[in-house]
Amino acid sequence: MTQYVYFFGAGKADGNKDMKDILGGKGAGLAEMTNAGLPVPPGFTISTAACNLFQERGSLSPEIEAESDRALARLEKLMGKTLGAPADPLLVSVRSGAKFSMPGMMDTILNLGLNDRSVLGLKAKTGNGRFAKDSYRRFIQMYGNVVLGIDKDAFEHELSAVKRKARARADVDLSETDLDQVIERYEAVVKKLTGSPFPQDPREQLRGARNAVFESWMNPRAATYRKLNDIPHDLGTAVNVQCMVFGNMGNTSATGVGFTRNPATGAKEFYGEFLQNAQGEDVVAGIRTPHPIVELGKVMPEAYKQLRDITTRLERHYKDVQDFEFTIQDNRLFMLQTRNGKRTGVAAVNIAVDLVQEGILTPREAVMKVEPQALDQLLHPIFDLAARAKVEVAATGLPASPGAATGAVVFTAEEAVAWAAKGKRVVLVRMETVPDDIHGMSVAQGVLTATGGMTSHAAVVGRQMGKPSVVGCGALQIDAKARRLRVGNSVLGEGAPISIDGATGEVMLAELPTSPSEVLQVVAGKLKPERSVLFQKFEQLLRWADEVRRLGVRANADIPRDAKVAFAFGARGIGLCRTEHMFFAEDRLPQVVAMILSAARGQRGLDLVRRLQERIKEARGHQVADLRKELGAVRKEYGKAIAEYTGALKKLLPMQRADFAGLFREMHGTPVTIRTLDPPLHEFLPKREELMVEVATLKAKGAARNARVIAAKEKLLRAVEELHEFNPMLGHRGCRLGITYPEITRMQVRAIFEAALQVSRKGTPVKPEVMIPLVGHVEELRRQKRIVLEVAAEVLGKGGSGVDYLVGTMIEVPRGALTADEIAKEADFFSFGTNDLTQMGFGLSRDDAGRFLGYYQEHGILEKDPFVSLDVEGVGQLVEIGVKKGRAAKPGLKIGVCGEHGGDPASIRFFHGVGLDYVSCSPYRVPIARLAAAQAQLEKPSGD
Ligand code: PEP
Ligand code: MG
Repeated sequence: MTQYVYFFGAGKADGNKDMKDILGGKGAGLAEMTNAGLPVPPGFTISTAACNLFQERGSLSPEIEAESDRALARLEKLMGKTLGAPADPLLVSVRSGAKFSMPGMMDTILNLGLNDRSVLGLKAKTGNGRFAKDSYRRFIQMYGNVVLGIDKDAFEHELSAVKRKARARADVDLSETDLDQVIERYEAVVKKLTGSPFPQDPREQLRGARNAVFESWMNPRAATYRKLNDIPHDLGTAVNVQCMVFGNMGNTSATGVGFTRNPATGAKEFYGEFLQNAQGEDVVAGIRTPHPIVELGKVMPEAYKQLRDITTRLERHYKDVQDFEFTIQDNRLFMLQTRNGKRTGVAAVNIAVDLVQEGILTPREAVMKVEPQALDQLLHPIFDLAARAKVEVAATGLPASPGAATGAVVFTAEEAVAWAAKGKRVVLVRMETVPDDIHGMSVAQGVLTATGGMTSHAAVVGRQMGKPSVVGCGALQIDAKARRLRVGNSVLGEGAPISIDGATGEVMLAELPTSPSEVLQVVAGKLKPERSVLFQKFEQLLRWADEVRRLGVRANADIPRDAKVAFAFGARGIGLCRTEHMFFAEDRLPQVVAMILSAARGQRGLDLVRRLQERIKEARGHQVADLRKELGAVRKEYGKAIAEYTGALKKLLPMQRADFAGLFREMHGTPVTIRTLDPPLHEFLPKREELMVEVATLKAKGAARNARVIAAKEKLLRAVEELHEFNPMLGHRGCRLGITYPEITRMQVRAIFEAALQVSRKGTPVKPEVMIPLVGHVEELRRQKRIVLEVAAEVLGKGGSGVDYLVGTMIEVPRGALTADEIAKEADFFSFGTNDLTQMGFGLSRDDAGRFLGYYQEHGILEKDPFVSLDVEGVGQLVEIGVKKGRAAKPGLKIGVCGEHGGDPASIRFFHGVGLDYVSCSPYRVPIARLAAAQAQLEKPSGD
């Protein structure tokens, strides 16, 4: 029989740390700590499987209800108390806990079991009426909000009214009789807004809280969070029911949260916050400002020492930074939670390397500890130091998540989204953020809040997103309704410039230029590596990754500057140089346009001339004279077009040669894959509508005066119209261009080999790889390859001049993948173009799918955007077929990928699994790919 409820208590638990799937992170941590003999209040965990059943049927089965009742009975027996019993009530907390911690879900309900009668029992038993009443009013408030759906403000309103009446400044100043009034008012709120009295039956309370946890799994905030973090929707959450301990029993009691290391920087320091005479949610809610945890050592030295010992042990046990929650009840310490702490990318790298140096982790374990995507945060910009020095700091808050953010002030998540959609950079400024703000946070450059500590929502979520965040900046006076922010004497409205430094907590009232991250500065040669500890650790981690990984990592780079960055980031080869990108440069476009305008007639003329020349060679007698005459006529008719066409190509040749030589030099003898021209030619020409407007305007200004320009524009317009295609992505592009305009391929290949020769003669080894795009039929490759071989022989000579080169193809058309065995016979290598393969395999237009993919994801049709993360089940099959057939025909065939997916960790795992040789991605994703490739190998080792 499946177990759905897992007990923990009295030194023994049904579960352990490896059961996160079933118990959630929190439940697994409580079980593990119990088994380790740590002081953990007993309780039980209702599993994630129960949650999934609940989602299916809307209730739990009688069997699970019975199992849960049995666990409660066991808890009652262990504690010698009954849940909510009038004289001496057992009180419990109810908390959600999924495999991955998730802001946005119901978090905690405390003091469950209290009602109008048991509150008196608690008072009698503890001799502390204030404490009992305070606990009850908190319970009504939490239960009312999360289970009964009553707005928090409704309760806050009543509490403020009583505080005003009692002239109390803080909640702790309220007396027992004040609290009686609060309870009375709260109960009236519940009655008024739900139509029923506050539930008095403890078991009904427990069922209600449990079901609310399960329901919160499906709420839109939690769903958004899962989407943003790639968490599957079918994991479910567990529910933890745990015996209460009280941090609000007076000044010998406290509650707090902390980390064993600084989660923002990774520094090895005990880090966290606590509040005396308070309950858990006070610390994170940002209502009272908590004290730094080291001060606990002064007020409760014994408990503090024990806490340090336990958390140090936990860190060693879990081999990772721990994020813990504790409560001290009357000087007695209880651990309520421990889990691996969330951290910034900077902290992740620092911690992983430090833990190896401290002998806690092996290098391989360290490689597994850092989310590849988190490395991105190390590549965030920082403020330009000179500009930064010129502006004053207007206010300082807590440095919750590092990075420089600059942009326009917005006051709500909705505004953030609206401004960002218009391409504006924004900083979201809030009193405090709530899970509802998550979409605004995700588009903002940074987040700034007026209240809350380092463990507040804004801080936790900001760190996780790698979003520069400053929290608890008390000097801000925010009037969100009036869209006004006052800082000192300055008043800022929506759209005013602001900058925040998430590493120092500083706020500046100006838009500041940002400059590259420390790592980027080292990479750019602006900072010496020995001056950056962070860079050294970053490098160390990646070196360990390199020792492990089987997949090679190359970069997609078109120009020498990008190639240099890619090499510095560890790319060992270029997997894709899109030659067309060079054509867009200002000095080249005129030549490209000239080439396009003359291409059709020029190429036709050349073909005719060549054919006639061949025939003349074989002709006899008077035939020769006839053919010569014909040749003369052709030359006359096409001579101008041929001259224009070849003339433009001749001008482009040295430019391309210089580009390629630069790439070869920057890549220091590693392979450089250069792709022949790919996009349809009209992409290089102006838009038809623009040209029409220009012509009309010129005519209006004076047709005679502008006659020459008008004629040129009209010629261009005719060319644009001739080149117009209904379906350009499936039209005259890729190898189809090179086949119909072989002169273009010839020029590009000549430029590649001349550059190779030039660079190798200067002593730098070169490995050119010529790649033919969009091949769907082997004959296409065969014809393009013939040209490559001919030109190579012309340039390099018979002996090859010491330049080894390969000729391969992209596999990006489904037919190419399906006939990979045929194609492999002509190819030295394959490179999967998964962008086009997704476009054509999935039938999704790369340019138009954005309009509905968002809807698809929001409505659960697709988990992820298939242009970001490979559709493994569908398009992945084409990749697998291509690999199998290609290698069946040519064992050992070198195969890579150069679509965007080459930098996506989940896709990299797949490419590793199907046995590709390398991935190629944008230069800035090279570190991510190196780490992801190592993790893929550690998860699923495969030989070379
Ligand atoms: C691809 O299609 O995956 C590819 C790399 O080529 P491009 O994006 O240039 O079409
Ligand atoms: Mg492509």
